[in-house]
Amino acid sequence: AEGTVRNLPGLEAFAGMWFKDADAKILQDLRSRGLLLHTERYRHSYPFCWRCDRPLLYYATTSWFIRTTEKKDELVARNKEIDWHPEHIGEGRFGNWLENLVDWALSRRRYWGTPLPVWRCEECRHQTVIGSYEELFAASGRERPADLYDPGQFNPHRPYIDEVTWPCPACGSGTLKRVEEVIDAWFDSGAMPFAQHHYPFENRELFRVPADFISEAVDQTRGWFYTLHALGVLLFDSVAFKTCIVLGHVNDEQGRKMSKRLGNVVDPMGVIEETGADALRWYFCVNNPEQNSRFSARLVREAAQGFLLPLWNALSFFTIYANLDGWRPGSRPVPPFAGRPALDRWILLRLDRLAADTTRHLEGYSLTEAARSLEEFLDDLTNWYIRRSRARFWAADGEPADGPGKASAYAALYEVLTTLTRLIAPFTPFVAEVLHENLVRSQRDDVPESVHLEDWPEPPGDRRDEALETGMAAVQRIVRLGHAARNTHGLKTRQPLAAVTLVTANESLRPLVEPYAGLLEDELNVKEIHWAADRTQYVHHEVKPIFPKTGPRFGKRMPEVKKALDTGDGDALAAELERTAKVTVQLAAGPEELSAEEVEVRLVERPGTATQGDRELLVALETELTPEL
Ligand SMILES: [Zn+2]
Ligand SMILES: [Zn+2]
Repeated sequence: AEGTVRNLPGLEAFAGMWFKDADAKILQDLRSRGLLLHTERYRHSYPFCWRCDRPLLYYATTSWFIRTTEKKDELVARNKEIDWHPEHIGEGRFGNWLENLVDWALSRRRYWGTPLPVWRCEECRHQTVIGSYEELFAASGRERPADLYDPGQFNPHRPYIDEVTWPCPACGSGTLKRVEEVIDAWFDSGAMPFAQHHYPFENRELFRVPADFISEAVDQTRGWFYTLHALGVLLFDSVAFKTCIVLGHVNDEQGRKMSKRLGNVVDPMGVIEETGADALRWYFCVNNPEQNSRFSARLVREAAQGFLLPLWNALSFFTIYANLDGWRPGSRPVPPFAGRPALDRWILLRLDRLAADTTRHLEGYSLTEAARSLEEFLDDLTNWYIRRSRARFWAADGEPADGPGKASAYAALYEVLTTLTRLIAPFTPFVAEVLHENLVRSQRDDVPESVHLEDWPEPPGDRRDEALETGMAAVQRIVRLGHAARNTHGLKTRQPLAAVTLVTANESLRPLVEPYAGLLEDELNVKEIHWAADRTQYVHHEVKPIFPKTGPRFGKRMPEVKKALDTGDGDALAAELERTAKVTVQLAAGPEELSAEEVEVRLVERPGTATQGDRELLVALETELTPEL
């Protein structure tokens, strides 16, 4: 029976016992024969059957191997051709695995599985490996069945295959019988690229090696990634795949490994019910799938709110107004690119850039970068372009409903949304299909039935306006800084302010931004814009000692330390601190160093201003509220 001691010479006393029950008897036997040196109990880990929880026993047994070690150099060299994502897997996990390569234990003593095609003579040990059904029928003398795939006529699995035997051609008296082993199922996984096409027996034109791309989780390093690679190199002198995206593991919302015992398993189907399949796809694209990720319906919903929701809002904004105005693609003339309003030119240039970026990222298998470019674009589209263009769609400010500004805006938003539909198709295929249906199929009959049959967008290539792109980027940057300055001073954007001063030593900024002065005044809600070059007029640093830290060290000399910091150049001291993590002060007794832990840096704004800046630019809002405001 399973797991019992066999009746072999010397083991008669234990024969038939379950191996664990035999432990005590074996100790007894050794003791009685004076062979036992020492015995004690100690705690250690032990393997158990994953199905029935009974203890397992490892023991040496004969097995069939593929001598992969003989091809180790080729396996290692070919690995260097693979484009691994993340890159470190190639030299790290996978490279190390190949460096420490052992022969591949191919056979399993099981019933189910691909039978090992080795027939051996019981008498003279002559053996033969059968490479195809044709070889099998030729060797065995059996008639080839009319239909190999009709299990009634032929079945290549156990037990039927084991009935196929024939006389040994070597000794003439023995019989060739199949060895009892089956092949490790991992071999089947590695055989997938050719086995799926029944290559080399059929479909030679369909089989291609290497594949462009595969993806699986990081635990497949020694599994599928290896078996594909080994068979690719051994059989075809080639890598099996050019690129591999290695996924991290999916954990629960707190980042803990999901387990039945902890009860923290998040059922993906439940999440799909709640958020939709595209939200789940998007979540895993935008949060780098190459790293371990946290997973819950809440996290997926949040990711969707950052992308699918604004996308949906943009679509409904467009359809509502287009329907109200009776606008259709091509229904109103649109001026040539150079003659269109700046905001329209800007979003179209932004779109061209997005298409180029998404293409480049996808061609480089950088899914997350691609998804993040889409997300950033959508933010620009909804929070800048549409928000700034609303009035034109409403046809306010006296512009006639069919004026060029309005026609250009419709055409621009339509071009943006239909291009975006194709760019998001690989990420959120269902949402893309709905957009395609609403925006494209509803308008024309001569278009592909599905967005997934459309061509990938290619930017027209003849639209250029670098000054506009850099200018608008600078305007957006100024607005972000201005809003942050208002925030820290609790000044709501709807409160008009007298002026903003833009402080920068970069002289090229002003001519880039000035064409959009009106837009900037509007966004910052200020009456005037001034420019200045000297930042110290608006903000400076003060470096102060932290008394509890410096007091014990300097004692009575503290006032001297404080004075040295107060009278020194605060900006220079702050810069020194940032560079070297310490500042030096001159005291009567000589120079002393203060560490970053011993001082604090304060940013002091000129009274009456709210400031926020980056390395190049400082935005200083006048905060004084006059009756006119
Ligand atoms: Zn078991
Ligand atoms: Zn023989």
